[in-house]
Amino acid sequence: EHIANQIAAGEVVERPASVVKELVENAIDAGSTKIEVTIEEGGLQSIRVTDNGSGIEPEDCESAFYRHATSKITNGRDLFHITSLGFRGEALPSIASVSKIALTTSSQEDGLGRKLIIEGGNLLSNDDSAAPRGTDFVVKELFYNTPARLKYMKTIQTELGHISDYMYRIALSHPGIAITLRHNDNTLLQTVGNGDLLQVIAAIYGTQAAKAMLPIQAEDMDYSLQGYVSIPEWTRSNRNAVSTFVNGRYIRNNGLNHAILRAYHTLLPINRYPLAILSLTMHPSIVDVNVHPAKLEVRFSKENELYPFVEQAIHAVLRQQVL
Ligand code: ADP
Ligand code: MG
Repeated sequence: EHIANQIAAGEVVERPASVVKELVENAIDAGSTKIEVTIEEGGLQSIRVTDNGSGIEPEDCESAFYRHATSKITNGRDLFHITSLGFRGEALPSIASVSKIALTTSSQEDGLGRKLIIEGGNLLSNDDSAAPRGTDFVVKELFYNTPARLKYMKTIQTELGHISDYMYRIALSHPGIAITLRHNDNTLLQTVGNGDLLQVIAAIYGTQAAKAMLPIQAEDMDYSLQGYVSIPEWTRSNRNAVSTFVNGRYIRNNGLNHAILRAYHTLLPINRYPLAILSLTMHPSIVDVNVHPAKLEVRFSKENELYPFVEQAIHAVLRQQVL
């Protein structure tokens, strides 16, 4: 069981950002409207995720750390059929096997809950504790007992970069959740959680960027598209400013990115890119996860319909603006 957890940890917990991802997705699954992430030293020293979600029932706290106790689905295609983000039931056992965890949680409003201490997969204590409703995970000294893995960690800035990229996507896809990211006492991201995507864009890219955005809203038989794209006059040298989401999940698809850029054809100077935050909604049966769920690459079965649809929807809005 221990070995299995550490092997699974090699797949689930690649780096500090993977821990942040798993804990934040659990917080979202728990219905949280407020999620605070506090990082020290790029997450290698400490990762803390605090939410105001459902909490974990006292009798379920220990089993949350058992492998596959909660597994919900078995293959990649299922990923887009389910509404919750968690699906393997192995994140917590994996993280616990390679770090030191303190979990404080309460499912009640009465201020009473549980606190568990786990080190290297060993439960050291499980006691009653004062706790507000919600869950607080503190993960310290990631990979302290797997030195080979620790050796692969890059600089603090690189690890932090992965974490903030991930948190930006979460904020962009969940404008209704108040999200905070802090690193060594600096606040890197703070959203209000009022559902306004433009405010999230302002929090991440700045108020000038938010002012340069045009709303997109389009629909055809199979797809619904919404979000914001920047006016051609407001461009960036960084092509990563295009973020795409399918059914609420951040995804990557080259064809889709090209369709977005084609809409700007002749409007953009060379080596300049728009800022675009676009969400597609579609039936789960026409999107498929390509290769590995964690890689975020998807394939669309009706891409010959999707790409022109996206290109034209954006082009129409840009043309209107130019006229
Ligand atoms: P999964 O998310 O795939 O179910 P995890 O190992 O990530 O598996 O989490 C195990 C279980 O612990 C979850 O299914 C959930 O019941 C519980 N849990 C974990 N984090 C939270 C949280 N922040 N709030 C409420 N419940 C949680
Ligand atoms: Mg999970």
